[in-house]
Amino acid sequence: MSPKQSDHVRLFIPGPVEVRQEILEAQAEWMIGHRSPEFADLYARLQPKLQQTFATQNPVYIYTSSGSGIWESASRCGVRDDAKILHLTCGAFSERWAEVSRTNGKEVDLIAVEWGQAVKPDQLADALKHETYDAVACVFNETSTGVRNPIEAYAEILQDYPDTLFFVDAVSIYAGAKIEVDAWGIDICLTSTQKALALPPGMALGAVSPAVLERAKQVKNRGYYFDVLELNKSHLKNNTPATPPVALMYAADKQLDDMLAEGLDARFARHEKMAEMTRAWVAQAGFEMFSEEGYHSPTVSNVANTREIDIAALNKFLRERGMVLSNGYGKLKGKAFRIAHMGDTQPEDLEILFAAIDEFLTQEA
Ligand SMILES: *Cc1c(COP(=O)(O)O)cnc(C)c1O
Repeated sequence: MSPKQSDHVRLFIPGPVEVRQEILEAQAEWMIGHRSPEFADLYARLQPKLQQTFATQNPVYIYTSSGSGIWESASRCGVRDDAKILHLTCGAFSERWAEVSRTNGKEVDLIAVEWGQAVKPDQLADALKHETYDAVACVFNETSTGVRNPIEAYAEILQDYPDTLFFVDAVSIYAGAKIEVDAWGIDICLTSTQKALALPPGMALGAVSPAVLERAKQVKNRGYYFDVLELNKSHLKNNTPATPPVALMYAADKQLDDMLAEGLDARFARHEKMAEMTRAWVAQAGFEMFSEEGYHSPTVSNVANTREIDIAALNKFLRERGMVLSNGYGKLKGKAFRIAHMGDTQPEDLEILFAAIDEFLTQEA
């Protein structure tokens, strides 16, 4: 059974993203019990592919939650009660993760910059000189603003602070641009399925270092569902503590094969090309990028609505043509709109989108 073509609206929103029909169909395998050898095979089969795509030797745990679950896991297990976590915030998602740390009872310091700006490495270096942190948490690609933060530079700075864990939310950039978990010393790198990995929503993946497990042993109330020590215990048996999202794991198995067949470098180059195409269209159409020059995201472009168009009307027009993009996030609603160019979206798909937006703009003028 396939989804009905007549209902198809191609998603150019930054999650959930468009999912290929072959991937949707890969979920339709017969169910297996998750304590069966067949499940252990499936779990074990995913590991090397996940480790390759995260560029890590660390285990990649499967969380039966969206990406936010791993925020909770990291904040809760990676920071001791009498210690602090430093959050680098520059938009809605990075701010929400800081809130997750607070609501888990952790003491939070912030380096906060204006939406649209990146957090600069100097700011991090400076903060670390003045205070000791159990962890630094940042968002690689701030989906609400279209900013790609300079994670590689943070990594270099953090080399001088071996007791400070490095947590990176790579939700909307993993599988769309290079991430070197081991080379960059990332202790927890997390993603969700519904962004650049281009799977349906409902599963999250976290590459977790041995240092996090050591830290977790010093945290008393780690909870259960997101406890890294529980996850690791199960991981060693190719399993998960509670019922895993088996259908999504089937889909991931196929998607990772397809990604590796495309080639990671080719996949990342395709994303970069789509981002450049989008920026070229933005300039030609008389808009401006909302994100700071030099820090534009390779997976989602946040376009400042400098022509003051009616974004809801644009989306209505696009929907009639089987497409949809995203209004500005939160306080940026009406002031910006976002075009996702991630996952299995192709340059040709974007050309169709741009032609349709151009048609809308001509009609408006
Ligand atoms: C979408 C997103 C999240 C939230 O992930 P969920 O899977 O919805 O929990 C977190 N961080 C970033 C950068 C995102 O884009």
